[in-house]
Amino acid sequence: MSTVAHQPRQMLVTGGAGFIGSNFIRLLLADDPSVSIVNLDLLSYAGSRENLRNLPNESRHRLVEGDIGDRGLVADLLAEHHIDTVVNFAAESHVDRSIAGPEAFVRTNVQGTFCLLEACRRAWSESGGFAGRRFHQISTDEVYGTLGPGDPAFSESTPFAPNSPYAASKAGADHLVRAYHHTYGLPVVTTHCSNNFGPYQHQEKLIPTVIRACMDGRPIPVYGDGSNIRDWLHVDDHCRGIDRVLRYAAGGTAYNLGGDNEQSNIALVRRICGVMDELRPERAPHADLIDFVTDRLGHDWRYAINSEAVSRELGWQAQSDFEVLLAATVRWYLSLWQGT
Ligand code: NAD
Repeated sequence: MSTVAHQPRQMLVTGGAGFIGSNFIRLLLADDPSVSIVNLDLLSYAGSRENLRNLPNESRHRLVEGDIGDRGLVADLLAEHHIDTVVNFAAESHVDRSIAGPEAFVRTNVQGTFCLLEACRRAWSESGGFAGRRFHQISTDEVYGTLGPGDPAFSESTPFAPNSPYAASKAGADHLVRAYHHTYGLPVVTTHCSNNFGPYQHQEKLIPTVIRACMDGRPIPVYGDGSNIRDWLHVDDHCRGIDRVLRYAAGGTAYNLGGDNEQSNIALVRRICGVMDELRPERAPHADLIDFVTDRLGHDWRYAINSEAVSRELGWQAQSDFEVLLAATVRWYLSLWQGT
């Protein structure tokens, strides 16, 4: 593996009260005693203080409630805490919401990212330059568009072809990140990840929705015929991949992170139903609850991600056993919702 390119110490993590950000903060506080974290989160419907309960070494974490698009606030945080590292998770993240109301996605994902980039450029230029600083943009495989059955998986050189307002807003942000490196030399890295699963995800997303419907004995909504394919990666694997890229990647680079684990939606839903059958046999078969509903507008058919570059160059690959961790995820949500 290559040598360390960056050692984070004073971090600004944005969107750290959401699903992936809170898992990342948990991992970092446990693993790196030299890091302190300011967590800037708007606490929108998607973020929750509950996700940050019982953090390890929590004296090194501070939650600030605010908007990444608030220039004054971001500038103050960068200066006051001598921030050397920004990891930008903050986003509007739900494709269905982006179809119903795209404006918030442009505001947070595009303008918010721009505000962070510009604040970093100014603050770091005025306080010693870019050496020892790093901006990490958390992006998605959805910027690459959709694949047919025999198409090769997305690589880092696949052209962007976003199809939903969500994906387009993430692609817009990624272009700004790239331009800030090319034009100003801002030390950026970007990671494009596939679908995550694990604890602390908002209930509106597919896996928690299916578990909750099984728990309540309600219909499980599945879009179209359920044939759409996604690559699934456990959130801990994703967070370890982010950490690897953050520390070891060269400035200006982008890497794909995937689980090499393609599943059709219907296969995934049936698998969850199978886990529920084992845990709640009195309600089996849960698959009887499956309810095919009108397809999402413009629904991408298949995502697949080629992570060979990060494996070859930085030594990261997904470690987790999908079936074991999917079952653990189902148990985690059941225990969270017990009594609700
Ligand atoms: P999430 O919706 O669970 O969390 C987003 C967080 O951002 C929330 O805590 C929310 O309060 C906060 N936020 C929203 N707008 C904000 C603003 N203007 N200022 C400050 N905070 C704001 O999302 P997630 O699933 O944890 O995704 C995190 C990042 O990872 C996103 O950038 C997303 O595009 C990307 N991503 C997610 C997945 C996935 O499967 N969940 C896959 C690939 C990439």
